[in-house]
Amino acid sequence: MPKRTLDDLLSNGALTEGQRALTRVDFNVPLEGGADGSEPRVADDLRLRAALPTVERITQTGAKAILMSHLGRPGGERDASLSLRPVAERFEELLGRPVHFCEETVGEKAEAVIEQLTGGGVVLLENTRFAPGEKANSDAFAEALAALGDVFVGDAFGAVHRAHASTVGAARAMQLDDGRPAAMGRLVERELKALGRLVEEPASPFVAVLGGAKVSDKLGVIERLLGVADRLLIGGAMSYTFMRAQGRNVGDSLVEDDRVGDAERLLADAGDPLLLPEDHVAASGLDDEAEHQPVEGALPNGQMGVDIGPATAERYGEAIRRAQTVAWNGPMGVVEQERFAGGTRAVAQAVADATDDGAYTVAGGGDSAAALSQMGFADDISHLSTGGGAMLQFLEGEALPGVEVLSDR
Ligand code: ADP
Ligand code: MG
Repeated sequence: MPKRTLDDLLSNGALTEGQRALTRVDFNVPLEGGADGSEPRVADDLRLRAALPTVERITQTGAKAILMSHLGRPGGERDASLSLRPVAERFEELLGRPVHFCEETVGEKAEAVIEQLTGGGVVLLENTRFAPGEKANSDAFAEALAALGDVFVGDAFGAVHRAHASTVGAARAMQLDDGRPAAMGRLVERELKALGRLVEEPASPFVAVLGGAKVSDKLGVIERLLGVADRLLIGGAMSYTFMRAQGRNVGDSLVEDDRVGDAERLLADAGDPLLLPEDHVAASGLDDEAEHQPVEGALPNGQMGVDIGPATAERYGEAIRRAQTVAWNGPMGVVEQERFAGGTRAVAQAVADATDDGAYTVAGGGDSAAALSQMGFADDISHLSTGGGAMLQFLEGEALPGVEVLSDR
């Protein structure tokens, strides 16, 4: 069933001047600094820029944009290091108009701030995950959020796979209470369209690239992609669970012991289309002094694989440059450290080249998208998804609760 969009709300008069658009955005961005007592800063603003079209559209109408988001994992308690205040400051710079910050997420104080907001005004509420009711999707917290809006706008693509109070509960409460509509924002609309192109008759050769931390996060999508992609290139820490399944030595690399059986089964089912790294960057550890060098084949004891090696980067790059469709999720190595980011950078360059040659390319994942954005590849890929788990869940063909909950058209 097609879902209502922000444009639908505007064209049918459901959102007009002075009204409150309670908008779930995904401002879960990486922060830097803060440890030395200084205020943390936004390390990558891809997700903030991605929210601009929706917020601009709301404010142009003269409606109030009431923004809510989670940030990190504060575990249901207030944690000053995970306040959204520095995010509000950065978003204000990007939006080019005042963004008020409210230290409370719900309640009288939040209601008063919203009341005082003029039409076209913007307020960001404090981290929804400071409240235990957010992840529990408690009725009380969902209703407290719902009290802040006349309409609900779901635009947090990175969080649509989670049924929390701010993504699902509040939208449901508003519709149930008195038929206040819930619609998708422009980012969610754009993401669904872009990712949809990957599953609806993708042009071949279709090359999928999966990396990142864990096989367990990506088992479902590996199985699904093996059914549609011509090649599946594996990198990142999950390579080592596969290598262990092949009976090869992985030294001190990260392995999910309880997934070795799954990896074995996938290798047997997949056959030739599944490629594993043939060389690695091996390091004695992750600290600054740790020595590192390329190694071929198995990893010696005392060494951990931290990136795909140069020969693998070359081979993966070639497969990607020949592709007509590319789907990529998860970095090829410990991308946070420049020394171990070479494989990810090489794959990004190959994806950019393929895009240049006319391929349709999508990359995503929280850590991957932030890394690609910081490396300057954001505009060189057909679509850089702001979603991690949400992108995977979509590719697996599973429903997204934050979309399902929205009003039908
Ligand atoms: P995404 O957020 O893009 O979906 P994941 O969260 O699955 O990606 O994985 C990203 C994390 O995986 C990064 O923190 C990165 O350091 C880590 N990682 C990638 N390769 C390795 C490796 N070989 N060893 C240890 N950690 C790795
Ligand atoms: Mg991640």
